Amino acid sequence: MRAFPSFRVRDANRYDADPQGEYVLYWMIASRRTRFNFGLQRAIDWARVLAKPLLVIEPLSCNYRWACDRFHRFILDGMIDNHRNFARHNIAYHSYLEPHGGAGDGLIGALTKRAAVVVTDDYPTFFLPRIVGRFSRTIEKKCELVDSNGLLPVAAATKCFARAFDFRRFLQKHLKPHLLEFPDAEPLSTYDPQSAISLDPQILKRWPQLAQDPGEISLKEFPIDHSVATTSTAGGSAAAESLLHTFLGERLEHYVSRRNLPEDSGTTGLSPYLHFGHISTHEIFHRVTECGHWQIQHLAETATGGRNGWWGCDENTEALLDQLITWRELGFNMCHQRSDYARYRSLPAWAQQTLGEHAKDPRPFCYELAEFDGATTHDPLWNAIQRQLVNSGRVHNYLRMLWGKKILEWSSSPQRALRIMIHLNNKYALDGRDPNSYSGIFWTLGRYDRAWGPERPIFGKIRYMSSENTARKLPLRGYLEKWQGEISLSHHQLTLPE
Ligand SMILES: Cc1cc2nc3c(=O)[nH]c(=O)nc-3n(C[C@H](O)[C@H](O)[C@H](O)COP(=O)(O)OP(=O)(O)OC[C@H]3O[C@@H](n4cnc5c(N)ncnc54)[C@H](O)[C@@H]3O)c2cc1C
Repeated sequence: MRAFPSFRVRDANRYDADPQGEYVLYWMIASRRTRFNFGLQRAIDWARVLAKPLLVIEPLSCNYRWACDRFHRFILDGMIDNHRNFARHNIAYHSYLEPHGGAGDGLIGALTKRAAVVVTDDYPTFFLPRIVGRFSRTIEKKCELVDSNGLLPVAAATKCFARAFDFRRFLQKHLKPHLLEFPDAEPLSTYDPQSAISLDPQILKRWPQLAQDPGEISLKEFPIDHSVATTSTAGGSAAAESLLHTFLGERLEHYVSRRNLPEDSGTTGLSPYLHFGHISTHEIFHRVTECGHWQIQHLAETATGGRNGWWGCDENTEALLDQLITWRELGFNMCHQRSDYARYRSLPAWAQQTLGEHAKDPRPFCYELAEFDGATTHDPLWNAIQRQLVNSGRVHNYLRMLWGKKILEWSSSPQRALRIMIHLNNKYALDGRDPNSYSGIFWTLGRYDRAWGPERPIFGKIRYMSSENTARKLPLRGYLEKWQGEISLSHHQLTLPE
């Protein structure tokens, strides 16, 4: 077997590869792409060693929390790209769209029976760890979990970091060897075509391959939330690469000065693609540093934990890498280390204490979920942000911070504010349900932050933000005009799910 970064792969059970198996199965559930993908690379390595063909299964379930037209369309767009890329290399690719809740149960188990080895993605958040854990306990075939989440393998940090500064300093001390272990840019080109796979007709009948062009599929008949409509943001690796290309050509050189502009015109816009695995941090890092003619010798010798200077790049690239690597991977660190990452009790003790001391403070405004969801608060800026989230599935980082802080201020308790934020963010945001979702939401309640003075009602020592200050800092006139008016939704959920 070709050398593989040891931190990135772990055995889900104790079986050995089955020499009688007919193929190597790659169950693509988080890294939904064909480039810079350690999981796919590992599956191809197994196929080569065992001289067996590769079968890739990419399923889309319909009964996960917040399943809706918006996310289905985005994932289906990605399947179109994957289908094209696998077909070009003669690799068997089975994309499966579950027609009703539970219809997909048993598919992976059935495919596993004739597999020699199963490889799948190791992703620390949402329902994926649960289904992978359940599956690997029930099968009697070797199953490997591969981490293709970020530049630092999540297993390489053995503690949970409470501050970005400490995590950055850890990266500055320990990231370098992982920068020398990049995944293949084009793993498919290393695949030697083997004999064709003929899937059991019973499997194909019960779990048919997407017959139609995924782009043509009408989502109306699927039991998912149709009120969260598709948006103009196309999903898939091709769309992600085109955005990255535009960013490198037009935006990177202004990243520091323009990244806070409210119209999303200064940043990459890549978070939904990172979330669905349509692009990887490795590819972004590779392209960004290639542009700047960066080399590993440019890294600073000393680890100070400081935001600037360690990478040895210009200030725009340093700032981007700090978001993409320090901040993004800090969230993966939390979700990997703590199973309670989405619970109120995972907030730092000081934050829980100060919020507790102010829990009974009178709220100048107190809204219920439906009022937040429908953007009917008294604050025109907050309503505009919520409308952007609902109608486009995206919100700029600075405005997202204000959005969360105001939900804290206008909810009956901090615990309830947390549940409302998680629900609205994960329901509408294309990049929701991600480790970063929990980093961002919990940041508004004190995670990764420090105590601030003066102590205020409701917030206590939690950092405060106001719409008035935000309006002074950002040019908002065009933004407010664009996102005023109605929300184009047929209904709003009135109760918070448990
Ligand atoms: C209340 C709240 C909720 C949030 N929910 C999400 C979410 O559901 N999903 C999500 O991906 N991000 C979330 N964030 C973080 C941040 O807003 C987005 O990552 C960022 O706006 C994405 O835009 P971009 O891809 O253009 O970022 P760019 O500026 O181009 O940055 C490149 C990448 O770096 C990472 N990144 C950038 N900013 C942050 C940050 N503050 N924290 C962690 N990683 C960052 C993202 O992966 C991003 O795609 C949230 C922040 C807040 C305050």
